[in-house]
Amino acid sequence: PLPLDVEAIRADFPILSRTVRDGKRLVYLDSGATSHKPRSVLDAERWFYENVNAAPHRGAHQLAEEATGAYEEARRKIGAFIGAPAQEIVFTRNTTEAINLVAYALSNAATAKEPEFRTYAVGQGDEIVVTEMEHHADLVPWQQLCERTGATLRWLGLTDDGRLDLSDLDTVVNERTKLVAVTQQSNILGTINPIAPIVERAHQVGALVLVDGAQSVPHQPVDVTALGADFLVFSGHKMLGPTGIGVLWGRYEVLDELPPFLTGGSMIEVVRMEASTFAAPPQRFEAGVPMTAQAIGLAAAVDYLQALGMDKVEEHEKALTAYALEKLAEIPGVTVIGPPDTVARGGAVSFTVEDIHPHDVGQVLDDLGIAVRVGHHCAWPVVRRYGVPATTRATFYVHTGYDDIDALADGIRAAQKFFGTV
Ligand code: PMP
Repeated sequence: PLPLDVEAIRADFPILSRTVRDGKRLVYLDSGATSHKPRSVLDAERWFYENVNAAPHRGAHQLAEEATGAYEEARRKIGAFIGAPAQEIVFTRNTTEAINLVAYALSNAATAKEPEFRTYAVGQGDEIVVTEMEHHADLVPWQQLCERTGATLRWLGLTDDGRLDLSDLDTVVNERTKLVAVTQQSNILGTINPIAPIVERAHQVGALVLVDGAQSVPHQPVDVTALGADFLVFSGHKMLGPTGIGVLWGRYEVLDELPPFLTGGSMIEVVRMEASTFAAPPQRFEAGVPMTAQAIGLAAAVDYLQALGMDKVEEHEKALTAYALEKLAEIPGVTVIGPPDTVARGGAVSFTVEDIHPHDVGQVLDDLGIAVRVGHHCAWPVVRRYGVPATTRATFYVHTGYDDIDALADGIRAAQKFFGTV
């Protein structure tokens, strides 16, 4: 049996009771792109709009006060989920915006008039380090930072079995490095990366470390103290929460010395016609009326995940991944891209099917009611590295059962039959 009670969990997700493609059960294997939402998350957002609906941190009325309380309670709860105090939690729109926030803060630092904001300035001669495994969201903002500042982008490569190649860590990360950005779990290979040696080397040379937790925070226990990095970013919509809410966790001392990214209301201290000063974190990084309902929805998602237990969620997906790797290995012509075993590997399984384009595989699966992702998965350099044009990817979550994986394996066989490749 699986660690989680899949039938009971499925009953909590309204969307899983709908059918697709003429009455077929929805086999949803695309949680890595976005996850479905349990009823408690939908209810929390509705509760906010029906009962409170005011802009937090503004207004003297009762609704505004209640909105502030609920929004700040969400911040506290989401912080506690990753072992962080509320003041280190900045709400953003998603992972992408959280990474852009940091990238723009580092270039804004170079021209900041306040000396205390210049600590982490990036400029000519400096280096930013990423990996060849990054999602475009953790690659393009750093390329752009380098273009704005004259810094140089460097990267750690990959091994043939889909892991980070750390053999040249000490030369790639060096005295010129200002920041290292690395994903904790690859959205395409499923690889779970060793963060500790990267943090150790980066801190040895005085560089900051940003961990992309978009695919790790939803699926395994993550504690920022144990992680040791300076920033952790993730998206609500991939962890049972709403779209339009993401998180930037930053070590307070670091956040405190960063200039803002977006400016406007709520993020200021004193405003005069000539110039303004800025509030302390996290407000400094939250310009404008925030995503209040979404933050409250995300807090409900955190409650839901915590009630299941993140250890159990992780074990559940490990069992499913082992089963999927075994089932796919039984099908001739199927090649998994990424680590071949479940050691340091999460529930994202990308594969190719000999002589059938991934889009065609996806289409046959879709006809059977099976939702997967096909393409380069916003990690183009990864598919290029492994010499394939694209892959088909199945990703798992708390409502995924062995029956979903059996359906996937049967669907791949149906595609092979349809295209006459077996
Ligand atoms: N990083 C990784 C590893 C991801 O998988 C994703 C989403 N596919 C992102 C970043 C970007 O997340 P979002 O689109 O929610 O900003």
